[in-house]
Amino acid sequence: MAYDTPIPGYRNNTVNNLRLWAAKSTREFDFSYFNEGNYIRAVENKQRSEIISKVLYPNDDKFEGKELRLKQEYFFVSATLQDVMRRFKKGHHDFSKFNDKVAVQLNDTHPAIAIPELMRTLIDVEHLDWEKAWEITVKTFGYTNHTILPEALEKWSVSLMERVLPRHIQIIYEINRRFLSEVAYRFPGSSEHQQAMSLIDENGEKKVCMAHLAIVGSHSTNGVAALHTELLKSHVFKPFYEMFPERFYNITNGITQRRWLQKCNPELAQLITKNIGDGWVKNLQELKKLIPFAEDKGFRDEWRKIKLSNKLRLTEYLMHNNTFAINVNAMFDCQVKRIHEYKRQLLNVLHVIYLYNKIRANPTAEYTPRSVIIGGKAAPGYATAKLIIKLINSVADVVNNDPVIGGRLRLYFLANYRVSLAENTIPATDLSEQISTAGTEASGTGNMKFALNGALTIGTLDGANIEIKKEVGDDNIFIFGMTVEEIKQLKNKGYSPYDYYQKNPELKEVIDMIGNGHFSPQHPYVFRPIVDSLLYQGDQYFLLADFASYVSCQERVSRLYRDREEWTKKSILNVARIGVFSSDRSIQEYAQKVWGVSASPVILTP
Ligand SMILES: *Cc1c(COP(=O)(O)O)cnc(C)c1O
Repeated sequence: MAYDTPIPGYRNNTVNNLRLWAAKSTREFDFSYFNEGNYIRAVENKQRSEIISKVLYPNDDKFEGKELRLKQEYFFVSATLQDVMRRFKKGHHDFSKFNDKVAVQLNDTHPAIAIPELMRTLIDVEHLDWEKAWEITVKTFGYTNHTILPEALEKWSVSLMERVLPRHIQIIYEINRRFLSEVAYRFPGSSEHQQAMSLIDENGEKKVCMAHLAIVGSHSTNGVAALHTELLKSHVFKPFYEMFPERFYNITNGITQRRWLQKCNPELAQLITKNIGDGWVKNLQELKKLIPFAEDKGFRDEWRKIKLSNKLRLTEYLMHNNTFAINVNAMFDCQVKRIHEYKRQLLNVLHVIYLYNKIRANPTAEYTPRSVIIGGKAAPGYATAKLIIKLINSVADVVNNDPVIGGRLRLYFLANYRVSLAENTIPATDLSEQISTAGTEASGTGNMKFALNGALTIGTLDGANIEIKKEVGDDNIFIFGMTVEEIKQLKNKGYSPYDYYQKNPELKEVIDMIGNGHFSPQHPYVFRPIVDSLLYQGDQYFLLADFASYVSCQERVSRLYRDREEWTKKSILNVARIGVFSSDRSIQEYAQKVWGVSASPVILTP
């Protein structure tokens, strides 16, 4: 069953349709079973078919090879392609114009089964020959990759696919046979290329590499930030890039200023419009007109007043929902995003404990007060992510109730992080934490939302942070930590996190406190798995290697925050120079580079 949601454009006389699908049984009830007294059987078929679209698989950056998930992916793809086909055939009697009229963008690897599904439809149902069907298919699809974490890449077992989608696996084998003969032609005698590029992974149980299928079956593969695209070309999909360099594009992600400034931060939106007009709502680059206002003392006062008002609004909201109070005069230091080890919420916690120890060791010195806010959901089966949430809450309990600390350091965990909570949190933020291990965050979009609302970023050279730095200027962002290249070198020479622990007494103290139950006196060993992963299991995301650099960068942040005028100048310049990260620009790039469509003129009626 189709569920339609109209999506009105912003003052452009256009409404698009968002069509979603639910699996719905055509028969509520089997009366023959019911009459026999078999009441369970009477509803079983209905239950079994409707379960296909009942749950959204909650994993973030982790592949789970469940049969129901494969059925769900196929269900959504099949419904969509049937709908596309029905609509196309209303106006066309053959398929010569199909790829002129239809573009299908694979939003990540999950819908890649659409490639053999379109082939199946064109060949088995519409009776085209293989070559023609393949040409149409490749010209129809584009593929956007969203992650390079190896555990996220979909690899379906061949035996499962043979059972659930037997015709599709036949088609995949034929795509692979033809593709590998092209590979043999392009890389003669290279069994390495044959192995690395095959759609079938034959190491252990045979599996279909859905990302390889997506690249081979589409005319465009794109990453979502410049660094991410470079990593796709030079590492993850290197042989595919060598074979099809013209198929690879970068399209850096963006966010919509209509939600992430105009709606969520009405006071700031109004101040901006009062001074430079409202052109930015449709063309975010017009924010550049704010640059001279960074030098205007009166404007800076108004800018700061709005930030304070947003902080009060968030505090009020949190008091209602979580019953805790925040010191609004403190720096709001926020990290809100899904909880994942690669995003390094744990590094943030290490820094909070470091600050805690520093204040306790010297309670009379001057400190820049901070309210550290961490929020985000963990996937239900991700035990380490849940333990990190428990650690945040446990550290918060100790820090927030220590009379020596007073209001100078606070830690809060925001439960149930979601878009509505993001809309309240982001406008109230002074410092945006974007601290993933270099090379792990494909783009990030939270980073863009914060900068658009006047937060300064502390971040690594990862994802779109690199492009944000280029836009706002090196003086207006806080960069720390190892680069992708440095991490690669450290890995090659052998990374020993234990050395960092032994050589840095402050780091050692922080980790020992977590390990010996300082924050969990009732259960002193509850956080041992976290300590073990850092010290004895290789510290996969290089927290210990980046710790010292992070701490000293945070000291620069604290120093600057005390200079309110300088901080505000940088805040204004961040907003003024962030315009390129509008999703309007991203979508224009997809239209031009991938879909080959140009804008229709819009006639505005008054
Ligand atoms: C923007 C957004 C994200 C993505 O945040 P990142 O920091 O880029 O991971 C996640 N969740 C919600 C609710 C968001 O609004």
